[in-house]
Amino acid sequence: MKAVQYRTFGAAPEVVEIDRPSPGPGEVLLQMRAAGLCHSDSFIMNVPADQYSFGTLPLTLGHEGAGVVAELGAGVSGVSVGQAVAVYGPWGCGTCRACAAGHENYCERAAELGIMPPGLGAPGAMAEYMVVDSARHLVDIGDLDPAIAAPLTDAGLTPYHAIKGSLAKLGAGSTAVVVGVGGLGHLAIQMIKALSAARVIAFDVEQSKLDLAMASGADHVMTSADPHALAMVRELTDGRLAQAVFDFAGFQSSVDLARQLVGVGGDLRIVGIGMGGASVPVGFFVTPYEVNVGVTYWGYRHELIEVLDLAHSGLLSVHVERFGVDEAPEAYRRLHDGTLSGRAVVVF
Ligand code: NAD
Ligand code: ZN
Ligand code: ZN
Repeated sequence: MKAVQYRTFGAAPEVVEIDRPSPGPGEVLLQMRAAGLCHSDSFIMNVPADQYSFGTLPLTLGHEGAGVVAELGAGVSGVSVGQAVAVYGPWGCGTCRACAAGHENYCERAAELGIMPPGLGAPGAMAEYMVVDSARHLVDIGDLDPAIAAPLTDAGLTPYHAIKGSLAKLGAGSTAVVVGVGGLGHLAIQMIKALSAARVIAFDVEQSKLDLAMASGADHVMTSADPHALAMVRELTDGRLAQAVFDFAGFQSSVDLARQLVGVGGDLRIVGIGMGGASVPVGFFVTPYEVNVGVTYWGYRHELIEVLDLAHSGLLSVHVERFGVDEAPEAYRRLHDGTLSGRAVVVF
């Protein structure tokens, strides 16, 4: 079968022919229909070999997947052959305190047990077939287009999780800021508009991304480099600034902007990873009072069900660029160059 793999440190991903896997006891084999490309793939392919912590190479890429159940390993129940499903990617042990609460993305034992997400250590979704370790990590997608469902498992779920934690602050007259309008950011804007009364101000470095922000429902858009950005947000909010600021870029320049835009009692959520290592100072005279600063990782399984519900209700419009599997290296090149719009998805 064809698979898109990261094979050599520092080199571009390659399309290769590998053996089709078979599901062991408790596992499920999916025939893939779609796999999304995330900027985190670019991030891990830029980590130097001596700091790489995502398992061994070659790595089959893809942590956003949707497909059809092709075969059940021994003892599997809860899904059936032919069922259309999306993969919940932040795999955990399923039994620790965090997993028991449905928070598998924060599994307490994943590192100790060597559990890694598909495409970020375990063989991923960018292949004609993929093994999922448990039926627990599959969510039914019904008649949703798999090329739409796949990005929802991360580009949808990750902002949804971050936004849900701040909804209580996004009442009437509130303002939310979204920094970075790529795969995650364009869905974040739609989710804030669908779930809250907040006005949304979006920032990016590219005009085409600001156009996508407007099409996604943003009330105002600005370029991050605009020296008047802070003054304009202050004016738009009668001096209150934003009640929630979400950074989906994660570069030092973007978090420096994001932290200035949060008002008293607001939330600052850093979701973007950038080059890794960006940080914000917190303290007297640099942070408004009672601001809550946090970093979030992916989301909960029940939240993926909610995100798919939002899509089924017609409240999310996922902007996708589709590629064939042989075009995946080109799609990754464009992701790296920042010339994609919305989410790139490989369709099988
Ligand atoms: P993307 O490439 O599709 O979008 C990133 C956007 O940020 C682009 O539109 C780009 O123009 C914009 N940008 C870059 N620098 C900026 C700046 N200084 N100010 C404003 N905008 C800027 O990437 P994506 O797949 O949407 O991922 C976004 C980020 O989130 C990446 O860093 C990715 O690694 C990270 N991520 C984190 C999680 C998590 O669980 N925390 C999950 C998925 C992705
Ligand atoms: Zn991702
Ligand atoms: Zn666990």
